[in-house]
Amino acid sequence: MNKDIFLTNNLSNKKEKFVPINEKKIGMYVCGPTVYDDPHIGNARPLVIFDILFKVLKCKYGSTSVNYVRNITDIDDKIIKSAQENNISILNLTKKIIKNFIEDCKFLNCETPSEQPKATDHIDSMIKMISELIAKGFAYENNDHVYFQVNKFNDYGKLSNKKLEDLIAGSRVKISENKKNPEDFVLWKPSLKGEPFWDSPWSKGRPGWHLECSTMSKFFLGKEFDIHGGGIDLLFPHHENEIAQSRCANDTEVFANYWIHNAFITMTNEKMAKSQGNILKIKDFRNKINGQVLRLALMGAHYKQPLDWNDKLLNDCKNTIEKWYNVYLPIKTQSKIPDEMLLPLYDDLNTPGYIANLHKLFNKANNGNENDKKIFVSACNFIGILNETKTEWLNFKRKNFLISEKDILKKIELRNNARENNDYKEADKIRDELSEKGVLIEDKDGKTSWKIK
Ligand SMILES: [Zn+2]
Repeated sequence: MNKDIFLTNNLSNKKEKFVPINEKKIGMYVCGPTVYDDPHIGNARPLVIFDILFKVLKCKYGSTSVNYVRNITDIDDKIIKSAQENNISILNLTKKIIKNFIEDCKFLNCETPSEQPKATDHIDSMIKMISELIAKGFAYENNDHVYFQVNKFNDYGKLSNKKLEDLIAGSRVKISENKKNPEDFVLWKPSLKGEPFWDSPWSKGRPGWHLECSTMSKFFLGKEFDIHGGGIDLLFPHHENEIAQSRCANDTEVFANYWIHNAFITMTNEKMAKSQGNILKIKDFRNKINGQVLRLALMGAHYKQPLDWNDKLLNDCKNTIEKWYNVYLPIKTQSKIPDEMLLPLYDDLNTPGYIANLHKLFNKANNGNENDKKIFVSACNFIGILNETKTEWLNFKRKNFLISEKDILKKIELRNNARENNDYKEADKIRDELSEKGVLIEDKDGKTSWKIK
């Protein structure tokens, strides 16, 4: 489509027209998971949001024009702690969580990014960047540690709108006797006995988390690139620190041009967090709810707004997709989606606006011809919905709605026997049991048929 894309840039806190550095080589870096525990529904939001952005960028600039990098942090304090607590080696833990993460992405029907680098594959580049920062006077070594000296970088705080004085006065920065200033952050630290380590000029140790993304984004996208994304919790200090490190190491005025952050998922308006004890893991949904339903629910609010997660949201989305499958038809080639249909997505990824358009398009398709249906299915496919055939959708329900077809038929036979014996109480009981498992039965002309609710 020949229209412009607009995005809310947290660097300016304004909605801006997206102008890529090079239309043929658009770079997008999104902070991926730290693989210490299975991803939860809050982690699923950026997966889906940036997947949509990936699709929108490809739609405008061409399918091979976007280089989407999403890293995997596979070395971190949280990983070491989790491995110890679960009595498992770090390698086995990270392997297991990465496997689950990739399955979750498939379940949510997210496209695989162009690159998914692991931090531990880039330690050499990290050591190189730290050395450069020390040589340029932005970082210092003390007692086996290396720190970034925040007051050497004048633009520190520009992304998060924080002033250095407030940071120093605030309680957010950890005081350490190794640091020159409380706001300085770690680039390298020594590993304790039994912890994984890499040789470096400073100590046998490991890199700081912030540094990982500065290094991997440079490796794949260069010193300056277009879009950097992640959850809003990463804006400070993680992204602020990435900017400081990258701009100082690379001598650039810019690191990423557009900073895009998605808001939290809340549960009855509380932030979902491990500390709140209200974590819902993605994998726990896999056998209960079709991934499309979850995906549609995650698009239910604009990415800048919090999304409240509740059963009603999931039920509404399930009913919507159920309804939409009424006009489903398999398509070999995608139909062109009308421009006005796509406009909300081009306008700062307005997913609720796009979904509202889908409802309108559904009404047209429901009363329309095959071509209308094809356009509707294509428009759903564009955001990763209705990609399964109707049979697959129904099979998922059959498989996961707790009862097999064979058992349903057996129950119906038992119920018919009960009715022949005038045992209506038993017959009703069986019908209720089936209903609880999502199966509706209907008696007509002496025959009993069934369908999935
Ligand atoms: Zn990052």
